[in-house]
Amino acid sequence: MQVKIYINGEWQMQEKERLASLINPANGTSIGTTAMATASDAENAISSANQAYNYGEWSAFPPSERAVYLLQIADQLENRKEEISKWETRNNGKPLRETHADVEAASECFRYYAGLISSTDGYTFTSGTEIQGLVTYESIGVCGLIIPWNHPILITAWKTAPALAAGNTIVLKPSEYTPISAYLLYDIFDQVGLPKGVANLIPGDGEEVGATITNSTAIDKISFTGGTETGKKIMAAAANNITNVTLELGGKSPVIVFDDADIEHAVDHALYAIYFGSGQVCSAGSRILVEESVYERFSDHFVARAKQIRVGPGEADGTEMGPLYTEAHMNKVLADIKRGEEEGATLRCGGNRMYGDDLDHGFFVAPTVFTDVNKDMSIVQEEIFGPVVVIQKFTQENEAIALANETKYGLAAAVFTGDSAKGMRVIRGVKAGLTGINNYGMGDVQAPWGGPKMSGIGRSLGPDGLKEFQEAKQINVSLNNEKLGWFSN
Ligand code: NAD
Repeated sequence: MQVKIYINGEWQMQEKERLASLINPANGTSIGTTAMATASDAENAISSANQAYNYGEWSAFPPSERAVYLLQIADQLENRKEEISKWETRNNGKPLRETHADVEAASECFRYYAGLISSTDGYTFTSGTEIQGLVTYESIGVCGLIIPWNHPILITAWKTAPALAAGNTIVLKPSEYTPISAYLLYDIFDQVGLPKGVANLIPGDGEEVGATITNSTAIDKISFTGGTETGKKIMAAAANNITNVTLELGGKSPVIVFDDADIEHAVDHALYAIYFGSGQVCSAGSRILVEESVYERFSDHFVARAKQIRVGPGEADGTEMGPLYTEAHMNKVLADIKRGEEEGATLRCGGNRMYGDDLDHGFFVAPTVFTDVNKDMSIVQEEIFGPVVVIQKFTQENEAIALANETKYGLAAAVFTGDSAKGMRVIRGVKAGLTGINNYGMGDVQAPWGGPKMSGIGRSLGPDGLKEFQEAKQINVSLNNEKLGWFSN
């Protein structure tokens, strides 16, 4: 596989010294190369997107015409699901069942925004007897989209589908570690014949290519998903040009379990909350808060089930959890675990790199559980982004809410209880954007995704996700031709 640059409807090769190797995290072998674009490539991509926006037909097309392209893209994603999933699994490491789901959701996202942009939009108002007002939502211009490595095709779809639907043109920078699925999506863009310059792809690193996008005065909108520290840099860069910015950042999300919950059901969802994607998920439920009277029972049951998770290469039959995405990230997660032990938490299972027939050369970390933790420990406060969960104790409903809110993040949360009124009270008290009662992380394309505090600014998906790529305009139409007469002469 060779990932190339795509600017103004043309694929571009790169000099040998500007190619980087792509590694399969399940076995450490090379699966191909990616072009590493330069700042000058990024500037060319931005200028092509500007040309297409200002002089091309895309933004002037009726929405229903853009929707036809989006539907064709959705169909192609479906048709090429096996191919794209296989490459996503090799590139990122996650099991095939997860990459299948991601490609399906990416296709659904294009389909959803094709429908949404074709439906009625805006509203009218009447001001006194003189004005009939209309509010319309228009495209913003050139959008710079910056993608992380953990859900490459999915997050690429979450940004490209609404941005294109709204009539913008785009410059996309995938993660330098996982650019393959974005490259395959652009192959689809090419095949369905998106007009030249509407969608440009510049694989490359953050410091050179990403920063060229965020510092550019020719970019009208930045939509970024990634780490909170990078998000701060991006917001600072955007501030220089007052560029409109959406940030989807990290999390340390709580799963709250009361003693009146169905404990088996809660354990089942809590396992999914943290070990899906090997915990490399922004909305991972990495803190479990359990009412004291069922703390031991819940913890024992959770640990027993965590030990049974089948860890292996994403392409192997029966694999339930894959490797971490790079060796460096695996070592960072192992160091975080060590710090948890040094801080005095009890390591109940996992905590180690895994070896064995299929695992020796991959970056596998065993499902890890800490108990006997307190809110000041780093493993309770910091996003680890690996298969590591902490189980905390609480005694009162108010204490559960306070503990849930006691991190800098606010992305996701769930509560498990047999008392629906209590479930609603608690979820209303928790500062988070993606929440559930007796389920975890069941986000849908129709509803906004994102959260407050240091988890970001703005939302993806649903009608809110489209608005992130639009500007509101009021148009005031006079109902008579009378003079204003504000000044007498
Ligand atoms: P990252 O911040 O390291 O990188 C994300 C992207 O930003 C990459 O494409 C990278 O090349 C680019 N980048 C890095 N430095 C840059 C700079 N100075 N200017 C412009 N671009 C730059 O994040 P990551 O490690 O790829 O992803 C993991 C993080 O993403 C986690 O913290 C996770 O919680 C977060 N995330 C959030 C959501 C959400 O919806 N809230 C979803 C997925 C991931």
